[in-house]
Amino acid sequence: MIDIPAPLRLRLDSDALVQNWRTLDRVSGTAACGAAVKANGYGLGAIEVARRLAQAGCRDFFVSNWQEAAELAPLGLTVSVLHGVRDEDMAAAAAGFARPVLNTPTQVARWKAAGGGACDVMVDTGMNRLGVSAADIADGLLDTLQIDTLMSHLACAEEDSPMNAVQRDRFAALTGTTSAKRMSLANSAGIALDGYAFDLTRPGLALYGGVPCADLADVIRPVARIEAQILQRRRVPAGQTVGYNATWTATTDTEVAIINLGYADGYFRGFSDRGTAMIGTTGLNVIGRVSMDLVALDVRLEPSANEGDWVTFETDLASASRASGMSQYELLTSLGRRLSRCWRG
Ligand SMILES: *Cc1c(COP(=O)(O)O)cnc(C)c1O
Repeated sequence: MIDIPAPLRLRLDSDALVQNWRTLDRVSGTAACGAAVKANGYGLGAIEVARRLAQAGCRDFFVSNWQEAAELAPLGLTVSVLHGVRDEDMAAAAAGFARPVLNTPTQVARWKAAGGGACDVMVDTGMNRLGVSAADIADGLLDTLQIDTLMSHLACAEEDSPMNAVQRDRFAALTGTTSAKRMSLANSAGIALDGYAFDLTRPGLALYGGVPCADLADVIRPVARIEAQILQRRRVPAGQTVGYNATWTATTDTEVAIINLGYADGYFRGFSDRGTAMIGTTGLNVIGRVSMDLVALDVRLEPSANEGDWVTFETDLASASRASGMSQYELLTSLGRRLSRCWRG
């Protein structure tokens, strides 16, 4: 294939990724720190992320389904599949490149019928999303299972909610009631809570530069930044408008740059009139509606900006989330395929 340099790219910082994992590992205390690499490593590239974290010492990886696990298989890592096993997954599960996190009595029965083997189990402690119940466990549902990790998931970890302690206490009460070698409760935000780490933590968002709670704000580094090229420069005379639905009107003659980036790339319409970008150290504002493949910037402050120049978009996920109204998770996992992933290090 011809190598055509992309007009938009995602700059990825290996060092920041590894530092974030080390930070989360340290804050996890004596607990081991794993990594959620589902959804293609939150959009950054599961293989690239997992390889780097494994090299840094991360030993436990989490994906949602078996297709994601199969993609990681060549790396030979310990991978847990959060959605467990359907009948359709049993052949993959038998191949042994990952183990299921069993979530329902049906999944448990399926796993037992196939001969068992190492697995993880999710127990619901109040989120009412995935997991068997504590009552099922008391009734012996998990007896004879060979469980590596018993896990549960916090509903409100990024908030100061009384539900956190309720879930932690329900989970702690299960200690020693199953064959599980390890207990795991905390996602990124849960790591910042005191006393929630148990034996293994499962951060995702914060590895990738997301900041779910104030305690992590100063220690988590941005990992990804969007860069895109200017496609056209134009002068918009006072009184004229820019973009779809003519939502932005020039109050004075305005220098505008049209950029190779749009909502099809995960640069959401919520950034219309609210997003920010940089050329060098100059901050620039998005004006008008974000289109599918294009967005306009006011470049009055950067008169030398020209066709082909590169622009860097907001790298702070928390600010980008506030500006766009999208969660930091959505911003990461929606990063489109047209952004070529360029790792430094
Ligand atoms: C996605 C996920 C995580 C990671 O959560 P973050 O908030 O991204 O840190 C951990 N555990 C489970 C069960 C998950 O589904």
